[in-house]
Amino acid sequence: MSDKRRAVVVDTTAFIAGFDAYNTYDEVYSIPEIERELMRGSMAKTRLEMAIKSGRLKIREPTSKAIREAESASKEMGDFQSLSEADIKIIALAIQLRDEGYEPRIITDDFSIQNVAKKLSLEYASITTHGIKYHLKWILYCPACRKTYPPDYKFENCENCGTKLKRKPLSKALIRGSKGQNKKEFGKLKLSEGGDERGP
Ligand SMILES: [Zn+2]
Repeated sequence: MSDKRRAVVVDTTAFIAGFDAYNTYDEVYSIPEIERELMRGSMAKTRLEMAIKSGRLKIREPTSKAIREAESASKEMGDFQSLSEADIKIIALAIQLRDEGYEPRIITDDFSIQNVAKKLSLEYASITTHGIKYHLKWILYCPACRKTYPPDYKFENCENCGTKLKRKPLSKALIRGSKGQNKKEFGKLKLSEGGDERGP
């Protein structure tokens, strides 16, 4: 076995998908933005706060050198547009830890981060292959024009504008919300089929 110190860099999607900092022997790192991105009062936020408080998860700001490296790799891969500043920092932190001699792995469910990690020969894993299974609903969406797609959509790019699609988990509240909307739309449809449309 390698005697390098092992670390994982965890992003928001991993925490939402159920990442638990106590389920790994590796050192756990993330970036300051993760605290802002997780919804207050959510399970994910509680898990994050406990992990930070106990020192199990360490928050680090990557150096500007590492950020530049992450940016240029993502531009080369055509993923730059799909990545938020926080996403770039996740990649940058992994670069930085590797430079410091760690064997790091990024835990993320974000396609674009995985893509750029591959380009940089950084290890990555999604939460489902990390040994934790959660029943999560996902949607694919276009970060440029905001069009959404079903989770099993077969193409990588937006049919409207060609931007590479991103994947995000729907919170339980959101799932409930969208069901309600569907019902309303269905109701409307029925109404018009029944010929009950009223003029202005
Ligand atoms: Zn689009």
